[in-house]
Amino acid sequence: MKLKGIKIGLLLFSVCTHQLFAQSYFQQEVNYTINVALNDVTHELNADEKIEYINNSPNSISEIYMHMWPNAYKNNATALAKQFLENGETKFYYSKEEDRGFISGIDFKVNGEAVKFVYDSVNIDMGKITLNSPLAPGQKLIITTPFHVKIPIGIFSRLGHMGQQYQITQWYPKPAVYDANGWNAMPYLNQGEFYSEFGSFDVSISLPENYVVGATGDLVDGEKEIAWLTEKAKITESIREFNKSDNSFPASSDNLKTLRYKQSNVHDFAWFADKRYHVLTSEVELPQSKRMVSTWVMFTNAEAHLWKKSIPYINDALYYYSLWNGDYPYNQCTAVDGALSAGGGMEYPNVTVIGTSGKDFILETTIMHEVGHNWFYGILGSNERIHPWMDEGLNSFNELRYMRKKYPSLRLLDEFAPRLSGRFFNIGHYKQKAQYELSYLINARRNLDQKIELPAAQYTELNYGGVVYSKTALVFDYLMAYIGEEKMNKIMHRYFDTYKFKHPQPNNLRKIIEEETEKPMTWFFDGLINSTKKLDYKIIAVKERKDFTEITIKNVNNIKGPVCISAVNEGKVIANVWYDGFYGKRKLSFPPENYDSYRIDGLLEMPEINRKNNTIRTKGLFKKVEPLRLQFLGSVENPDKTQICYLPVVGYNMNNSFMPGIAIYNNPFPQKKLEYFLMPLYSAGTIDYAGQASIAYNWFLNNDFQNIRLSCEAMKYAIGEKSLTLGAALLYNYKAFTIYKLTPQLSFELKRSNSRSSLKQNLFLRSINIYEEFLSYNYPILKLYNSIQKNTINEISYNLKNSKALTPYSLNVVMQQNNNSSSGSSFMKLFGEFKYRFVYKKKGKGFDIRLFVGKFIYNNGADSRYGFGMEGGSDYTYDQILLGRNVYNGMFQNQLISTDGGFKHQTGLLFAQNWLTSVHFQSSIPKIPLALYTSAGATDVKNYFVYETGVALVIIPKVFEVYFPIYLNNKTPYNVTTYTQYIRFALNLNLIKPFEFARDFTL
Ligand SMILES: [Zn+2]
Repeated sequence: MKLKGIKIGLLLFSVCTHQLFAQSYFQQEVNYTINVALNDVTHELNADEKIEYINNSPNSISEIYMHMWPNAYKNNATALAKQFLENGETKFYYSKEEDRGFISGIDFKVNGEAVKFVYDSVNIDMGKITLNSPLAPGQKLIITTPFHVKIPIGIFSRLGHMGQQYQITQWYPKPAVYDANGWNAMPYLNQGEFYSEFGSFDVSISLPENYVVGATGDLVDGEKEIAWLTEKAKITESIREFNKSDNSFPASSDNLKTLRYKQSNVHDFAWFADKRYHVLTSEVELPQSKRMVSTWVMFTNAEAHLWKKSIPYINDALYYYSLWNGDYPYNQCTAVDGALSAGGGMEYPNVTVIGTSGKDFILETTIMHEVGHNWFYGILGSNERIHPWMDEGLNSFNELRYMRKKYPSLRLLDEFAPRLSGRFFNIGHYKQKAQYELSYLINARRNLDQKIELPAAQYTELNYGGVVYSKTALVFDYLMAYIGEEKMNKIMHRYFDTYKFKHPQPNNLRKIIEEETEKPMTWFFDGLINSTKKLDYKIIAVKERKDFTEITIKNVNNIKGPVCISAVNEGKVIANVWYDGFYGKRKLSFPPENYDSYRIDGLLEMPEINRKNNTIRTKGLFKKVEPLRLQFLGSVENPDKTQICYLPVVGYNMNNSFMPGIAIYNNPFPQKKLEYFLMPLYSAGTIDYAGQASIAYNWFLNNDFQNIRLSCEAMKYAIGEKSLTLGAALLYNYKAFTIYKLTPQLSFELKRSNSRSSLKQNLFLRSINIYEEFLSYNYPILKLYNSIQKNTINEISYNLKNSKALTPYSLNVVMQQNNNSSSGSSFMKLFGEFKYRFVYKKKGKGFDIRLFVGKFIYNNGADSRYGFGMEGGSDYTYDQILLGRNVYNGMFQNQLISTDGGFKHQTGLLFAQNWLTSVHFQSSIPKIPLALYTSAGATDVKNYFVYETGVALVIIPKVFEVYFPIYLNNKTPYNVTTYTQYIRFALNLNLIKPFEFARDFTL
């Protein structure tokens, strides 16, 4: 039967192709010849290109996918433009046409004949050549085209010019990689790198002859150019003092020169040109072959004082990467100084570009990191877009090794902070690894991390650094500590020798590691690399047995990685023993000896998520508690100490007057499950104590909820004047003067649809217990009485926030309920606030819309202050920070509460006891710190309709703004008679959250 035959045929075919792919790795070869001329007046390139494409695959090819990456800078629809917006970056979106870039003038011919070429309909920086006849396996063809590139300004990404400094990267039409997975066509991205075919480049660059050029490859017939550069190097060496402030461009020479560069076994070609460059040159001998490699650094005056010391950085990088992985196979290596926008530096074969460094240490690490990419990216050409850890992560691992080798006692964080503050903040003791560890932990602790094995574009910006770079460096360092440095070198050399000038996949590396260690690497590849599972062992007990020490260890997380036990005397690690990993509890035997304490991972070699459960002392009480350390302000977590942070503070409001005191809290970095905050204050105004405190427990989950947090806050402040004027008007009046508030709260943060989503949703349940202490004056008896009114408001609220770059918006819906047993009144109300912003080009500027709707579901005689206020509510929940609560004179009475109706000025309306609605528009004025606003509102109070318009002085957007009315249709409000009394200000101190800010934006 035919059907069966077909089935068998298909089966046979699939077996064959499977074996084909399994057995024969293939790789296409692409050789380029490019002639390019730079126009440094119009900032354009005019070029022609010849590509030799050799089909080494077992398949016939009928089309060739091309990368046309300069088009990434063409318009706001490109993948690059979209990624910028997703990352909250609006610079490109609002850039002018003339500052953008593109490729044009394309006329592809294959073997001299015209072919069909179309740009991709979605990504205009990709295209497809349809061949007139298929290219058979083993055959080659020649693609030719002229092309023209308009160079964008250099503030967006990797290709660009800053004046007449040129960074010519990702600039020419280039076939995508065709491999066992088929075509790997991809649009250009800023976050997410590259994948290219190996081959050779023969590139001739024409430009004015006073340009210094750093490029991929060796100069052909370049004696004259090299002599000129060497002469420049001599001059550079003789300069004592560089003129830092002179960064002007000399005029371009009328004479042109053509520099021809050739290089084989590379997969990209980049070049950098600047007339201002100083030059230094040297040579380095490779450790195995003893071959000499020429090194060059090129830099402007801007950071010449750092760059003049940079030759050893490039030389040492070449030496150590060669030593640990395999000798550098090219003749020259260059580092150039460039105003780059895609991070601190960027790598290309033989040439790297380095951004502004500011410090010797940063310049050295950046140069060595980018030079290191010649191995992890250049020679080992993995698919960086899909497996970014294979280049960035393995490179960061080598970077870590380099820093440790060269600076064994370097305390890394010292280099990021002045020495004094390093000591001050107790970060001095952290060694090289601290930056990797912290940048991983900051998200891993909150379960916001992503796995190492993920395509580059799927990471959040924080995880791209914290996981791809840092976690990979940490886990390979862990592996090296476990298997030994010698074995690690053997693995890396074998990886290098097997896959140099090839496209290795993760499994290729895994196979080598497993064969060399003769161990299954499930815990490593499936656990640490391919999941977000965490490593955490806990030390339970120590017992002296007859001829060994028995140490009980428990795996309290979900990676079965090897564990190292250290014996410690006087704070120093004396002995280390590694054990294979396990789940659950194990009794491990340790060589017997008298030690002060035992510690899991005393040398900090494991990527432990929690080091607080790692130590046990052999003597004394509280064997597992670390000694206390008081820490000013805050620090990063120190596993050897129980840190308590403190900060002297002075509070102020009109009722309490000045309140000196102290804030005491546990260390905020990285975030803890249990958090506490205590702030006792002494109130000078009331001669009494005041302050607040909170305690919270976080569950950092990874199911439908990202985080569940149970907290309780308490506070006490004065809310009125304590001394009463016993004037006639107040004889039968009273004033509230102290508020005590206790708020248990349960909050849920819903898991985002994906890690990069800008949409965040929270649900809050809280019970606001308010104790208002009143001082009353009883008229007939002429006696002052204290009385306390207790009130509980139960609240459920839902908050949705979309922080997307151009049009962020938020919705907050609240339902409140209250039963007042003493007065017998009760209410339930529902209200919602919707905010929408259209962001203007300039940071902090935009057009805002705010909409408010509030309605009582029932209202049985509730106090009028629970009603909706047109110019803000009465803040009966005491959530706002007000400088002068219940104050009716002086400037503080003009602080407005931005809730409810949100009017900026007094309307004279009473609190609405049924419903209220309002709308508010505010538009920033470009270039000046002013905004125009207008509001309209209506309430059930006699169905009165109010509106206002005015000018706002924006001192700190959203936080501190002052409002000057232009027109109000209000009734004359109580106690407001002069224009200055209408002026009001918003001071939203609640919006300032330093710890949250620091957690999300530092490192
Ligand atoms: Zn890198």
